[in-house]
Parts: sequence; C-alpha cells; structure tokens
Amino acid sequence: MSEKTLFSKIIEREIPADIVYEDEQIIAFRDIAPQAPRHALFVPKKPIATLNDAEPEDALLIGNLFLAAARYAKAEGFAENGYRCVINCNRDGGQTVFHLHLHLLAGRALHSNFA
Ligand code: IMP
Repeated sequence: MSEKTLFSKIIEREIPADIVYEDEQIIAFRDIAPQAPRHALFVPKKPIATLNDAEPEDALLIGNLFLAAARYAKAEGFAENGYRCVINCNRDGGQTVFHLHLHLLAGRALHSNFA
C-alpha cells in the first residue's frame, strides 16, 4: 500500500491543521504558507494524487471542490471582491503535495501573471 499523504494525515487528524470546512467528501484548511491574506486548500478525502489521476467517476467530486470553495468565499464575505481557484499539477505546475487539492486565494488583487 502506498504511503499516506500529508493531506490524508490531516484528514485523519494525525497532524493538526486550521480546518475551515468539512463534509463527507471534502476537507478545507488554511495553507501553512499563505500566498495571499486568505489562502485555503480544498482537498477531496479520496486520495487522488494529481489531476491526471482523476477518473470520470471523480467528476462530481471535483465539481463539488469548486462549489465548496465558492460557498466558503461567499460565507466569508470576499466572493464579491473576488478570488482565485488553482489546481497545480506535477512538476511544471508547481505541485508539491501529491494529493489533489484546490487552492483558494483572496484578500488582495491577484494579477494575471501566473509566474
Ligand atoms: P501545491 O504546491 O499545489 O502542491 O500546494 C501544496 C500546498 O500545501 C502549499 O501551498 C503548502 O504551503 C501547503 N502545505 C504544506 N504543508 C501544509 C500543512 O501542513 N498544512 C497546511 N498547508 C500545507
């Protein structure tokens, strides 16, 4: 069996995190090294390594990740000003934790430079 990911350890409460949202399929917590004043990670509890590994059966789950992030943005009052949702995939995408996750960034103007 493959090694548990860092995010699976957070899901199973083996390591602490600042959890902001949870349901049966998804957990969200604040990023430990925020790139914006508001930076949370929305993570499916199912350990899909990268977006490349998502299967057609995961379509609803991945849609629900985005919807959970949008609901959170609305509930926290920054939806109207705006935010960015990003999924990094593999080395050139800048992925460092190989458990699929959606970054939600907000709280400052995010420019269209993706460097
Ligand atoms: P990636 O680079 O898209 O894979 O994003 C991984 C993110 O996880 C980075 O933004 C890290 O700052 C974040 N991260 C790493 N370890 C932890 C942790 O223990 N708690 C919360 N966020 C973490």
